[in-house]
Amino acid sequence: MIQAHDLPRLLHGDTGRPLTLAQHEATFPIGARPGGLFEELEASGLTGRGGAAFPTARKVRLLREQRNHHKFVVVNAMEGEPGAHKDQSLLSANPHLVLDGAEYLAAMIGAKNIAVAVARDNPSVVNHVTRALHERERRHDRGAKFELHTPPWRYVAGEESALVHWLDDNESLPQYRPQRPTILRIGHGPVLVDNAETCANVGLIGRYGAAWFRAHGTEQSPGTTLVSVTGAVARPTVAEVPLGTTLREILALAGADPDPLALVMGGYGGSWLDGRHLDLPYANETLAPYGVGVGAGIIVVLSRAGCGVVETHRIVRWMANESARQCGPCAFGLPALAEDLGHLAHATRDAAAAYQRLVERAGVIEGRGACRHPDGVVRFVRSSLAVFAADFEGHRHGAACAGAQSRRHFAAVPTLEREDELIWE
Ligand code: SF4
Repeated sequence: MIQAHDLPRLLHGDTGRPLTLAQHEATFPIGARPGGLFEELEASGLTGRGGAAFPTARKVRLLREQRNHHKFVVVNAMEGEPGAHKDQSLLSANPHLVLDGAEYLAAMIGAKNIAVAVARDNPSVVNHVTRALHERERRHDRGAKFELHTPPWRYVAGEESALVHWLDDNESLPQYRPQRPTILRIGHGPVLVDNAETCANVGLIGRYGAAWFRAHGTEQSPGTTLVSVTGAVARPTVAEVPLGTTLREILALAGADPDPLALVMGGYGGSWLDGRHLDLPYANETLAPYGVGVGAGIIVVLSRAGCGVVETHRIVRWMANESARQCGPCAFGLPALAEDLGHLAHATRDAAAAYQRLVERAGVIEGRGACRHPDGVVRFVRSSLAVFAADFEGHRHGAACAGAQSRRHFAAVPTLEREDELIWE
């Protein structure tokens, strides 16, 4: 059995190849969980690792209360954020841990079906999951039935309501949800959606219990988490760290620039953080006063050789392109924001007017979409205006900074040249 102090947990036994079912069972033997499965999950304080950090036990409780014989568990491994590689790493190392967690969740809510969603553009992960599911099938378990689904990769396709929409009728469009949490449905069946990393944590809590889980992390943010670190780094890294580890320690694991200009925290649906705050512990309660959070477990490092205005433009232009444009803020607002940022990034003659428009448009767009995609972009833009205030001041008056002139880019931004081909800038 792995001990309380042992790290890594989620990536334990990672050999660079996915563990077979037999290797998995030897690496993660069934432990002596002290209490009932749901009680231990509740006591663990596990929160969702996909971005919203919603308490997992509360979602499970909501589904347990539903009287319905057609419930589903959905494992969301779509990973729509360009800087995200954690679910991919997890499913490439320990796919059965994710599947175990999904089985525990299904048992807790009484679901007979589990859908595992992996983007079809990620064939190696699709293969790993396919192999793992075949191994389980050969064992002829009588638990919930697994099915692999492979929607196309897009940013909004990983949003949980868009994913359920796709599973229900092949359309990756987010659904309007005035209240959270809302119970999503496939047909008439209520659905519990959890991110792959969340499921893997449930797999561990189901074996070893809440006290074991809480041996790492902080009181408010217990456990370990996976974080993808890219940008100005020596080696793009997916690290498993206890929540509460300082940003400086996390960046060191990727050989990151030790004096960065800024960090994108939580992914492109997150916010910029000034690079002077590297001693902050990586946990929502300590990051929140700085307007950032753990989000989808992504950190993008921006070097002082780059430009925050240019990077914000590149990211927002891509985010504007990623919506389904079924709502006004996405059809008109986000492309307009991207255009204003373009003037600022290139310090054109229209930059001063573009700055005014940008500030006004951000206020108009907010709160008007069916999903939170436009709000996320507005938050990202506002954090950019705050963190790079001095650079925006120069750019809006026609003086692009040295970083902008260097044309060095640090944030990975895919472009769609053809409908079926993703190309990374
Ligand atoms: S707000 Fe944007 S991303 Fe969300 S549903 Fe509407 S068009 Fe799609």
